[in-house]
Amino acid sequence: MLTISPIRALSDNYIWLIVRNTQGFVVDPGEPGPVLAALEAKEIQLSGILVTHHHFDHTGAVAALKTEAGCEVWGPPDSPAGPYDRTVTEGDTVSVLGVDFSVLNVPGHTLDHIAYYSSTEHALFCGDTLFVGGCGRVFEGTPPQMRGSLEKFRGLPPETLIFCAHEYTLANLRFARLVEPNNDALSAFLNACEAKRANDEPTVPSCISDELACNPFLRWDSPEIRETLAASGKLADDTPDGIFTAVREWKNSA
Ligand SMILES: [Zn+2]
Repeated sequence: MLTISPIRALSDNYIWLIVRNTQGFVVDPGEPGPVLAALEAKEIQLSGILVTHHHFDHTGAVAALKTEAGCEVWGPPDSPAGPYDRTVTEGDTVSVLGVDFSVLNVPGHTLDHIAYYSSTEHALFCGDTLFVGGCGRVFEGTPPQMRGSLEKFRGLPPETLIFCAHEYTLANLRFARLVEPNNDALSAFLNACEAKRANDEPTVPSCISDELACNPFLRWDSPEIRETLAASGKLADDTPDGIFTAVREWKNSA
């Protein structure tokens, strides 16, 4: 029912354009020019803006686009980039061009971070919480809080498409191979993503089933990840939170 396509912005951001007929929403616009160009090229009228979190590369174009289009901006409460026209939080359902999206609170990368999920479109707009093969840095929350947010995504249907906000996939998957070198699904997925990037194609969206099979930040119950961490002296706390924290700290310094 909805058409979802990426607008490339800044160095490696994707602003997602959601279209139904001639109406559109954008998710996390960090830069106005590429959005205005896409709207004009496709003859789309901007009907609304969704924000996942306050970082400037996700909100830098909100004021300009709102002025240009006269549309509403929806986003989380207590957001340093707010207040927004409509505040949404977990338990809320928003209608985007006639399609229901439920809001999930996913703190960790920032404290205000939310995600938008549609079960009928099999679509998740997850900002900088989950990436293809990786996850966002934990800037404002704690690693256990971030793992709790990612656990919400683990429970979504496997066909759910992951519309994240950055093209970080190859670096993420190459790191993932250090963490889990014998994961054959991961090697195959990395090969497929390398082929897409060689053709300058986005690797986003992936789907939850790919992430469950390959993403070390969703695989805290993988015996191989646990063994890799233990063998390299990185496993101080042998719990799901401890494993997630150790992988996150390893990636931070990789
Ligand atoms: Zn961010």
